[in-house]
This record gives sequence, C-alpha cells and structure tokens, in this order.
Amino acid sequence: MNLIWFLKELNKYIAPYRWLAILLIARGLFEAAFESSIRMSLKFIIDAAIIPQNYRLLGLILLLLGAGAIVFVFIGLVGDFWAARFNISVINNIRHSMFSHLQTLSMEFFGRRSAGDIINCFSADTEQVENSLSYGFILVLELASILFSAIFMFSLNWQLGLISCIGLTLCVLAPAQIGQTATEQNYKLRDKQGEIANAIQENIISQSVIKLFGLQSRTINHFNSNLRQLKKVYVKAKFSSYLVQRIPTLVFVFVQLAVICIGAVMTYKNMITVGTLASFQIFLVGLNLNILSFTFSLPYLIEGIAGMQRINILLAEITQIQDAPDAIELPHFSREISFNNVTFNYSFERKGINQLSLTIKKGDFVVFVGHSGAGKSTIVNLLTRFYDPDQGSILFDDIDLRSCTQKSLREQIGLVSQEVILFNTSIRENIRMGYLEATDEEVETAAKNAEIHDFILTLPQGYDTPVGDRGGQLSGGQRQRIALARALVRNPAILILDEATSALDPATEVEIMNTIEHLTKERTVIMITHRIAQALRANRIFVLENGQIVASGRHADLLEEKGLYATLWQQSHPANTNLTVQTHS
Ligand code: ATP
Repeated sequence: MNLIWFLKELNKYIAPYRWLAILLIARGLFEAAFESSIRMSLKFIIDAAIIPQNYRLLGLILLLLGAGAIVFVFIGLVGDFWAARFNISVINNIRHSMFSHLQTLSMEFFGRRSAGDIINCFSADTEQVENSLSYGFILVLELASILFSAIFMFSLNWQLGLISCIGLTLCVLAPAQIGQTATEQNYKLRDKQGEIANAIQENIISQSVIKLFGLQSRTINHFNSNLRQLKKVYVKAKFSSYLVQRIPTLVFVFVQLAVICIGAVMTYKNMITVGTLASFQIFLVGLNLNILSFTFSLPYLIEGIAGMQRINILLAEITQIQDAPDAIELPHFSREISFNNVTFNYSFERKGINQLSLTIKKGDFVVFVGHSGAGKSTIVNLLTRFYDPDQGSILFDDIDLRSCTQKSLREQIGLVSQEVILFNTSIRENIRMGYLEATDEEVETAAKNAEIHDFILTLPQGYDTPVGDRGGQLSGGQRQRIALARALVRNPAILILDEATSALDPATEVEIMNTIEHLTKERTVIMITHRIAQALRANRIFVLENGQIVASGRHADLLEEKGLYATLWQQSHPANTNLTVQTHS
C-alpha cells in the first residue's frame, strides 16, 4: 500500500524525466536477461558442446557471450551516467517544489514548525528519497533477474523450476508484512532526527547566551536525553529494516537446500542431465546474490518512503493567508487606513488584540506605545497581512485588505521590524533587497537617510563589504540602520518602524528621527516604540493595553489625561513630568 502511494508520489516528480526512467528500466531488464543467459549457457556448454565434443558450437556460444559482455559493459556505463542525471533531476524537482511552497506559507507556519526540522526535510529526507531511487533501480534489476532466472529454470526442468518459483515468491513476499512496521518506525526515526537537527541549530544560534549563562551542561544533558530517545527509535527502526532484509535470505537457504537435494536425486535417477543440474546450481548461486542485493536495497526503499511522507506533510501545509481568487491590485495609498472592531488571537490561549478600532490618515506620523505584550507588533502583523483578523476588518482607502493581493499591499509598505534580518551578502545588496531595481545612487541615498553612509565608506570594501551570517559582522545599531535603509530605498507610501531605533546611540537616534520626521511630509509613518520621547514628534499617539486602545491623541493632551501614557512618560522621564513640548503637526 505504502509502496503504491510512494510510487504515485514519485511519479509527480519523475514525469518530466519519464524517458530517462524508461531507459534505466530497460537497462535493468537487459542486464538481468544477460546475467540469466550466462547462467543458462552452462547447460548448452556442457550438454550440447563439451559432452558431444562440438567445438564449433562451443566457439559460437563463447563468441556470443563475449559480444554480450561488451554490450553489457557499455550499457552499464551509459546507464550509470543516466542514473546520476536522473536522480539529481528528480531530487532537485522535489527540493524546488518544497522551496517554492515554503515561500507561499504564512508566518503562522514559521512560528509553528522549527527551522532545523524544515532544513532536515531538505537535506536528510530528500537524501533518503534519493537513495531509494538508486536502490529502487537495483530492486528492479534484481527482480527482473529473479524473474528471468525463474523462466530459464522452468525451461530446464519444470519440477525443480516450480520448487524454486514457490521459494522465490516467498522470498519476495515475506518482508511485506514487516515492511509496513519498518516504514512506520523509520518515519518516527526521521521525525526524531528532525528534532535533533533543530536542537543543534538552536544551540549554534544561541551560543552567546549559553556561554554567558553557563548553560553548557544543561544543553548537553538535554541533548543526551534527545540522543537516548533517538537510540530507542533507531533500534526499533533499524531492527525492523534488518528483519526485512534478513527474512528473504533465510527463506532462500531452504529453497537452495530443497533444490540441491531433489536435483541430485533426479540426476542420480537420470531424470535430468548433469548439465541441467550444474546450470541449476549456477542459477541458485546467482539467485543468492540477487536475493542478497534485493534485501540489501529494501531498507533504502523503506527509508525513502518515510522521507517522502515527511516531505509530503510539508508540501501539504496549507497557506493560511491566500489571495482571494478575485483579489484586486491595491491602488496607491491616498487617504486613510482604518481598523474596524478588529479582534485577532494567535491561538485560543494566545490573545493578540481585541475589538480594536482606529484610523490613520495619509501623512500622519503615528506612534504606538504601551507595555510589552500589549499588542503593538500584532497591529503591524495585521497591517502587513502576515495574519488576517479573526473578526472585523482592516481597510486601506475603504478597500478590505482581504480583497486585494498581498503583493500590491506589501509593495506600499516599508517595514523595519524589531528583529533585524540581514542576508549573508554585501551591504549594497542588503539595501537593494528593499527595491531590486534600485540604482547604486538610490542605495546610497537611502543609506545617507539612514545615517549609515559615512560608516560604510570607512570599510575597506565599502558598499561591497559582506555583512556575514545574519549580519553578524556588524553591530546591532549598524544592522538596524541598514534595515532602515532597505525600507527607505523602497520609497514606501507607509513606513512602519517597530522598535527600529532601539539599538542606536542617542545622537544617531536624533539624526534618524529628524530624517523620519522629514519623510513624513511625503509618506505615512507608523512607529512602535518604548522610547516614549519619540512620541513627542507624533501627531497622533495610540496607547495600547491588553490588546485594546485605551487612549489616543497628542502628547500634551495625553499627559493631561493622567492615564497610562502619563505613567509611561513619568517612568521614562521622572525629572521632567511637566515638560512642555513642541509637537509635530
Ligand atoms: P513588545 O513591546 O514586547 O514587542 P507588543 O506590544 O509588540 O510587545 P505583541 O508582540 O503584539 O506585543 O504581542 C501581543 C501578544 O501576542 C503577547 O501576549 C504575545 O505573547 C503574543 N504573541 C505575539 N506573537 C505571537 C506568536 N507568533 N504566536 C503566539 N503568540 C504571540
């Protein structure tokens, strides 16, 4: 059952290379037929050429065998080249499907599935499928050899042929039952290996925390416990795979014994010739090798099925956020964004925002403040459509976000998120990721606006300096400014800054805030910040608590209300509670 499912799944990826697959199967059939012919030839060499002293026939048989051997070698070499091409083509096809599918999945998926496990799907699971492809062809070859041998053995003597066939059928069918269990156990093994890959990845990323907090022995203990669990699953999976391998060989020993005993008695009673008996023995020796190779290949097939099951689960992930079939292109933002009674929870227990309504006008410089976990970033997640509201609607110029394409929405947004993500390439390319068509001049203008241009020029390779893995060769503030430049080069209608200046020194922060303030003349700026002083520049401040807006207005008005905003202000400016400020208008 599993095998049929596996073949059907594989067929989707093999389809473009069907001809190559047919050629490889044909090669297998030819090799099997040739091997059986060699085994069969012994009967004719003994009975028709050696015993009657027919040297012409002997010469002819040997010539045919020699010619066949040359073709056999040639087809074998060409076949190996085809097999290499075929395997990587099919596996790349699977990897391409997974990678493309991954790009369509929503943030909910990436929050749920661990990166290490996903990487494991791309590496180890596809490797298992690749092995099953290579060994699958060997299985075909061996099965064909067994089949041809059975036909030849029947033609030699039907009684001995029948005994051999019954035995060989048992050899092929015996592993089927245990094969199902072996597949399940191997699937569990693949899952466990995915968990371990994830643990290693997490450990590498978190080394600074581990060292600083002295967590080495805790992580080693945790890893050891993972290894112990792996051992349990591994033993079960491998033992069942070995059984699948072992059973046919055991059955075959009895088949071999039966054929030798009965064959010897039949030869003794002149029921068959010596050549027939010798040929049968050659067939049995060859079949022994075929069965060994067949059973050696079976576990790879089983592991391949388990790998394919995991790949299929990844591919079956449904994209939570999808463009509606009749989705429209969102026109350029011209008036206002409004949240109408929006409720959104990440899950039943993880609350996000509740019955939230607000309006942001074009050209506004809006700041969201509130305690940690109040729901500020959740608003950004909804605005960028990383998630859709559970209730209520978000409108851009009266158009519901759910009715427009995600691309046309995101093209209008420049986002600098709390967690800066840089790619392992040059500074220039990192900035250009914001707008792939940006010229070098546009990249540099964005860098100047983000106050990072002068620093870049001090680097020996300037804009071509690599930033390292996840931007690891830069400071936190430098990373933030490059991320800001990346958002600015996009020239977005709406600029969203989620704690985008948290890692900057006060002087650079003031410079950047001046730039941002200047930018608000042409675009809408939405800022999330814990640095409440930044709210002074806003022409609208929203104060969030427990996923709801508890106050909104300008700095001076909110201070007078003496609510949460006044408390937050007081906490961050204990000496200047009554500060009068010039706000942006
Ligand atoms: P901070 O100022 O600390 O960044 P915030 O106001 O931006 O906080 P949010 O990130 O919006 O808060 O989180 C609001 C609530 O949603 C929190 O209780 C948080 O634990 C939860 N939350 C946020 N992201 C997720 C997620 N991906 N999955 C589940 N829960 C989440």
